[in-house]
Amino acid sequence: MRTNLIIVSGQGNKPLDWQKTIREIEDVLIPHYQFDIYERGMYYFLLAETRIRGLEYATIPLSRISKALSCSDWQSRKTIRQLADKRCIELEQTRKGHSVKALIPSELNISVPQKQKEEINIEELDFFQGREYVNEIIKRENNSCFYCLSEVSLETCELDHVVSQLNGGDNSYRNIVATCHKCNTRKQAIGSHDYLRGLYRKGMLSETEFEGRVSALEALSKGELKPEL
Ligand SMILES: [Zn+2]
Repeated sequence: MRTNLIIVSGQGNKPLDWQKTIREIEDVLIPHYQFDIYERGMYYFLLAETRIRGLEYATIPLSRISKALSCSDWQSRKTIRQLADKRCIELEQTRKGHSVKALIPSELNISVPQKQKEEINIEELDFFQGREYVNEIIKRENNSCFYCLSEVSLETCELDHVVSQLNGGDNSYRNIVATCHKCNTRKQAIGSHDYLRGLYRKGMLSETEFEGRVSALEALSKGELKPEL
């Protein structure tokens, strides 16, 4: 039984940063290829026999691989083929064994998995631009115009700045409300409280509704009416 490594070729590349490389193997390569336990063991064994020793390729008899991994030749052959099919090793069958090169993440075209989406900070979201969160705002308003309580939908609703932009109002959920077209047009530069009072005077809001709306206005500015994202 041959146990010696036969060096097929070596390369004088600059030394690898192994700490970084192993981290990339663990964080990128293994999750990407979904290694099973044999593949993982085989990959590290081949890496140790080649790249970690500064070799590009090594020819390793199958029996030596099986012994190192404590598995049958059948299992070794199957696993090494799987790794070759996944293209994370280069494999050539020679009379003396498998001529192998274990590839490292930087040599493979693997995209780094996106970091988990950082938790959205609702306080920083723009609820006006592009109507990106219009659904969430309508839902908060129970599909009603924030001022006159008439029904609004995704198609009909408009977004209004409770405190106008001219008066320093921002695009946060504390200042953006869903309204009907009429209210958005009529309110214009009128302060929201005065506009609600106007609706009440015209009989478009009952006293209870008017008081409810005034409370909603206060709750909104206090940040108590957070839309659900
Ligand atoms: Zn309205």
